[in-house]
Amino acid sequence: MSFIFPARIRNELNRFEDRTGIPITLIFNLLVLLLSPNPLVKAAALIGAIMSGVETHVKKGSRKFTLPASAWNLIDQFIEENNFPYRRNYNKIITYRDANLASDTTGMTFQNRIYLQSIPSNNKELSEFFHEYVHTFQYHRYGQIVFIPVYVGEYLFELVRQRNAQEAYENIEFEDQAFDWEERFLDWLNARGIWVHKVRPS
Ligand SMILES: [Zn+2]
Repeated sequence: MSFIFPARIRNELNRFEDRTGIPITLIFNLLVLLLSPNPLVKAAALIGAIMSGVETHVKKGSRKFTLPASAWNLIDQFIEENNFPYRRNYNKIITYRDANLASDTTGMTFQNRIYLQSIPSNNKELSEFFHEYVHTFQYHRYGQIVFIPVYVGEYLFELVRQRNAQEAYENIEFEDQAFDWEERFLDWLNARGIWVHKVRPS
């Protein structure tokens, strides 16, 4: 949406979102869903509306944070050395801490926005961040309109087949890829030593 409206209108819309808790993207998508005669556009708008609803829930109470440069340097170096299949600049990634996630969920990604329980402070947590980072590339390559239906469709298919939610989740192709890179990054980090980021209490 950022490319549609000038900054002044965008600020007004953001203020509306802050006051009411209703995301602008949700309203925008619902309008497109109602008004567009094109079924493909309708489908994209429906997915957009659902995802912005989910994201609003996850975002509740979270705060933006900046991943330290020492962490990005390690990520860059790993990517360079390990035939990572995606190429994109990370400076568009927006990171949030204290996200409203289930206690067993370390993070969740919506396009270029990564929501985490807490700021990564050791090798394990940094590799879990890397897992979410892999999802940003998947979103970017396939687009939300492909990524979400494939992700959810595969999950439901596996759920019916295996009758086990955890197994089904781990069998999603996008997750399998993210877990694989998470593991490789953790091994790489551990082989190099320990990365520790001191989290300041707030
Ligand atoms: Zn994942």
